[in-house]
This record gives sequence, structure tokens and C-alpha cells, in this order.
Amino acid sequence: MDIPRIFNITESEHRIHNPFTPEKLATLGAALRLEPGTRLLDLGSGSGEMLCTWARDYGITGTGIDMSPLFTGQAKHRAEELGVAGQVEFIHGDAAGYVADEKVGVAACLGATWIGGGVAGTIELLAQSLCPGGIILIGEPFWRQMPPTEDVAKGCLAHSISDFLTLPELLASFGRLDYDVVEMVLADQDGWDRYEAAKWLTMRRWLEANPGDEMANEVRAQLTSEPGRYASYTREYLGWGVFVLMAR
Ligand code: SAH
Repeated sequence: MDIPRIFNITESEHRIHNPFTPEKLATLGAALRLEPGTRLLDLGSGSGEMLCTWARDYGITGTGIDMSPLFTGQAKHRAEELGVAGQVEFIHGDAAGYVADEKVGVAACLGATWIGGGVAGTIELLAQSLCPGGIILIGEPFWRQMPPTEDVAKGCLAHSISDFLTLPELLASFGRLDYDVVEMVLADQDGWDRYEAAKWLTMRRWLEANPGDEMANEVRAQLTSEPGRYASYTREYLGWGVFVLMAR
């Protein structure tokens, strides 16, 4: 079981697979006022940076589930490196439908809400693992600026404008699901650069090491077009943030 190989290639060097910098991740952790011993669940945990650094900094424990064997392996390695392997566990698997055996204080899905079939479905799924009064974290894109045309939305790699909401609309949508938004931390364009531009050097190095690979042409084409596409579209139009929710 694996995710499409292109992500394992382009994001192999990423610790954080979203537009958050390490500073933003730390800001979010501090904003949550976590008590030591709080249990976390992270669906689509990537390379585990959130659980590992928060285990180190705030004494939390947690479980992450991710479909990429590469990222899951990196998460386990990171836990060892930070000395928190006794506090966090990483499982390679499909997080769709995953409910924790033991209820958690914080249930998260950052940048992978397709796992629950969209934001609403993911909130519903996470809620099944949550203690009463627990916190849900949703990391999700929004339109920082409304795309003027459908072509601009496609330039942002969305299928259509309707894929995402504006920030006020997204916040209102959580209210309609009967959740309070009790905190939020938003990415900025520097963070987007760290997420997107970091892929370019990874692709360049991968091409040098794997010239005969069956994906070399696709990676070559992406490396050529991505800087321009990103600067014209994603960087200008797309925002991203983590929204902290509590059931009303
Ligand atoms: N939350 C992490 C990773 C976000 S990228 C971070 O912020 O760094 C999206 C992640 O979802 C990738 O790591 C990918 O491997 C994972 N993923 C995609 N589909 C999945 C599924 N069905 N179940 C579990 N993980 C999945």
C-alpha cells in the first residue's frame, strides 16, 4: 500500500508536508496549551514532525497513521532522533475509517482531508476518537484571493473554484457543523515557498541520481514548469491554515 510515487519523490526531503514552517508548527503547539500526557491522533501523519516535536516540547503521546511507507519510516526515524520513540507510534496504513482504541484529547488531520471524504467527513471521523471536550485540528487550504477564472483555479492544481472556500466561508462552515473555532494558525507565503520550492532541489537531485527511471520525463517536466506555475497561481491565490475546533 502506497501513495502515488511522484509524492514520495518530490517530498522525500520534507519534514513537514504542508506550508507550515517549523516555527508555525511550534506556534500551533503552544497555542493549544497542551498538558503533558495528552494523547494525540494524527491521520495522514506524513513524516511525523508534529507528533515528534510536540512529544519533545510538550510531553504529549500519540499515534500517527500514514499510507506512505517512506514517510512512515522517516517519522519513526525522527522519533528516535528526538528521543521520543517511547511516546509516539507510527503506523503504515490507510487512515480512512481509522478510529482509536483509546480516546484522545486531540485528533488531527493536516493537509489530508480526503481521508474522510472532505472536511465534514474528516471531522466526523476524528470525532469518533475524541474524549468529550477534546480538540480537533483540521489543516486545509482556502482561497486567499478568489481566482477570477476557473483556469486560475486549475493553475492552483484545484479541479475548480468550488474545491475551496474563502477564509471567512471556511470558518463559517465549521460553525454550520456545530463546532466552535477556538484557535487558528495560518501559513504565509514564506511557508508556501518552503513547501513548494523545497521540492525543486529534491527533483533536481533525484533526476541526477535516476536519469533512466521511468518517471524521469515526468519529474523533468515538473521541475521545468513548477516554479512559474507556483509563483503565478498557488503562491498568489491559495492560503492554508490549521483550524482548532471544539464541538458546541
Ligand atoms: N500531516 C502531514 C502530511 C500531510 S501530506 C504533514 O502536515 O506533514 C498528506 C499525507 O497524507 C501524506 O503523508 C500521504 O502519505 C498521506 N495519505 C494520503 N492518503 C492517505 C490515506 N488514505 N491514509 C493515510 N495517509 C494518507
